[in-house]
Amino acid sequence: MSFIEQLKNGGWTKPKLKQDNNIRKYSTTGDILSYKRCKRQYGYFHERGFKSSSTTQMYFGTLVHDVLDKIHRIYQSTGALPDEQGVKDVVDESHEVLVRAGIRPYDPIQQKKNATKLLGRFLELVNVKFFNHVQQTEYPLERELKTDNDTPYVLHGIVDVLSGAICHDLDLPYSTDPGDIEIWDYKASKRPEKGSQYIKDYQYQMRVYCELYKQQTGKYPARAVLVFLGDLNDDKFWEAAGGDPSNFARIFYVVTPNLDHIETAMTNFNGTVDLIEEERGKLFEEQWQAPEHEVDSMTCQACEIRFNCERLTSSE
Ligand code: SF4
Repeated sequence: MSFIEQLKNGGWTKPKLKQDNNIRKYSTTGDILSYKRCKRQYGYFHERGFKSSSTTQMYFGTLVHDVLDKIHRIYQSTGALPDEQGVKDVVDESHEVLVRAGIRPYDPIQQKKNATKLLGRFLELVNVKFFNHVQQTEYPLERELKTDNDTPYVLHGIVDVLSGAICHDLDLPYSTDPGDIEIWDYKASKRPEKGSQYIKDYQYQMRVYCELYKQQTGKYPARAVLVFLGDLNDDKFWEAAGGDPSNFARIFYVVTPNLDHIETAMTNFNGTVDLIEEERGKLFEEQWQAPEHEVDSMTCQACEIRFNCERLTSSE
């Protein structure tokens, strides 16, 4: 019997359905907040493996994180923080690494200048009082959990800095103690408006980190601190602060662990993992439709699949 005849007579074996036996990892920013912002965009870039051609937005945040990490290592090995030229050299070095990794900025000269200015001011403001307390950078948090639908998953995150009592030593206006343990997260942007979705998302991220930290160590940190480096660009505020961090409190945003808030964040995290898993189980053509809720117009404008999005093409 020919091959074609065999096929016509049903003489083929069906491949077995692929079973995904691995426990999947979920992070707050990469998965949960991204899914909540727009599930279609999340599905295309995180699940179906579409690669973003735009690395411009990533560049500045990654550069700032890399430079601060290197400065911490310089301080550890030499006992001194770099001067202005030293910061510029570290920025240049980190820039080269990013470019070699394919992460390119829009206007490299201006962006490097901007990063050098912000980071130089940050070092001047917090100085060794900050770096003396740094216990670990890129501190990994990871726990195996189960959703309400009994789906096991690994919740993971990376905290920029795990530290001792930085807020206490900087004399920031919070209730502090010399024995405090803190987690710090750098943001390259300016501090978002109070009540904005961005601030709510950052609070959410910090609450999840506090819970993960507690599950890993047995107790909550005294606080999670977000530091918005973008605000250091403001010359007027900078002059007014006179080099005193407590006069520049707007760059610090503190999230103090609160059991009710943390429980709400964790319930929401579990529920969102269930929604993502449910979406993954749908037929290919039914997956990752545009969400019914509103999507921020800036997210849509910057979205690389907007011309293949029912939401936008139907409103044009
Ligand atoms: S255009 Fe907007 S709604 Fe459509 S996928 Fe992109 S972000 Fe989502």
